Amino acid sequence: MKPALMRNIGLQFRRRSVAKPNRIESRKRAWARIQPHVLPIYQTSVYDYPDLKTLDDYYNGLIPGGYIYSRNGLPNSSELGRQVAIFEGAEDGLVCSSGMAAISVLLLANLKSGDSIVASSDLYGGTTVLLGEELPRLGISTTFADAGNLEQVKDSIAKAKPKLVLIETISNPSMKVCDIKEIARMAHKVGALLAVDNTFATPFVARPMELGADMVMHSGTKFLGGHSDLTIGVVCGGGKLIKRMSQISTRFGTIAGPFDCWLATRSLSTWRVRMVNSCSNAMKLAEYLASRKDRISRLYYPGLPSHPNHRVAKTIFSPGMYGGMLSFDLKGGLSAADTFVRSLSQATLTPSLGGVRTTVSHPGKTSHRHITETRRKESGISDSMIRVSVGIEDYEEIQNDFDAALEAIG
Ligand code: PLP
Repeated sequence: MKPALMRNIGLQFRRRSVAKPNRIESRKRAWARIQPHVLPIYQTSVYDYPDLKTLDDYYNGLIPGGYIYSRNGLPNSSELGRQVAIFEGAEDGLVCSSGMAAISVLLLANLKSGDSIVASSDLYGGTTVLLGEELPRLGISTTFADAGNLEQVKDSIAKAKPKLVLIETISNPSMKVCDIKEIARMAHKVGALLAVDNTFATPFVARPMELGADMVMHSGTKFLGGHSDLTIGVVCGGGKLIKRMSQISTRFGTIAGPFDCWLATRSLSTWRVRMVNSCSNAMKLAEYLASRKDRISRLYYPGLPSHPNHRVAKTIFSPGMYGGMLSFDLKGGLSAADTFVRSLSQATLTPSLGGVRTTVSHPGKTSHRHITETRRKESGISDSMIRVSVGIEDYEEIQNDFDAALEAIG
């Protein structure tokens, strides 16, 4: 548009507002009462301020819920954080650009050089590498312990006197279930904070805050987002902890973009129903796989009475819900695993999880590729381990697909 034309449009508007001030004011007031049903995408990196005093007011915290610059916060990220916090029973939530960004912010906000962590030895590989290979450079050490074994956790906490204990509700990929209540008690006894990665479980299976955790985080890329089309992370906790983590997020630059926040917020409306279906399908699939001892040497699903942490799962999980993830070891090593994944016709070999469609992954070659072989062995990750993210398809479709792929191993 030519500048002259733009000026004219501005002039017309100004003329009209001069001519009928009361009508325009009352229309504006009526419009202010009519709200969009869904929070729109605020695709802006910055806000215009009318004067210097308002800028001062913003920085002095006198404009609650105000925004200035996207790295400091955005309406869409605040909305997502607020809603996830409600699901998790936390005071507040902070959204970051990925699950790893959320974990990094959580660690950077609560630890300093000389501090130590006690972490589960069976965590997402990316978290293990961050703790084991990156944090030592900052003077922060980690003791790994089998979080499914309370005696080991107790010993490690007593020896390391950590500032932070980090566990996953359901571990990746061995599906160990942590007794969050007991571990929270042990952590608090030495003044440590307990942070729980609830990505696999989701609040519909377990609510770590109610069991004593101080912070709970999600890779929103997984079940929370649910459609394999966004990358996001969320950490929830008490208001004071979130305030400090927001400061770290602004300083280190971990904000998520408005569109991903908007997509993730939209996914929250179906989070529960997706999870209920996924858990139900996973339970049926686990029962079917348990009957395939001809092909499967080991099965990891906390819903099965044979799982070593089934009793703990029953006490801390919602009735009848044991998560949408399971793993198994095939008889026949790596070549059996390769034949199996090539023979699936519906489920895809996809190195992520939590989408509406069933996917399989090979932890040794993907999520846990970069951890040491010793740690892989300690976590029970074999060459023939297949991890399944069970989707919400009609169950028969999933079983038929797995049945055909197991038969193909021959
Ligand atoms: N936590 C768990 C349990 C995960 O499985 C993952 C990724 O697979 C992460 C955290 C990291 O999340 P993101 O990939 O969104 O950074």
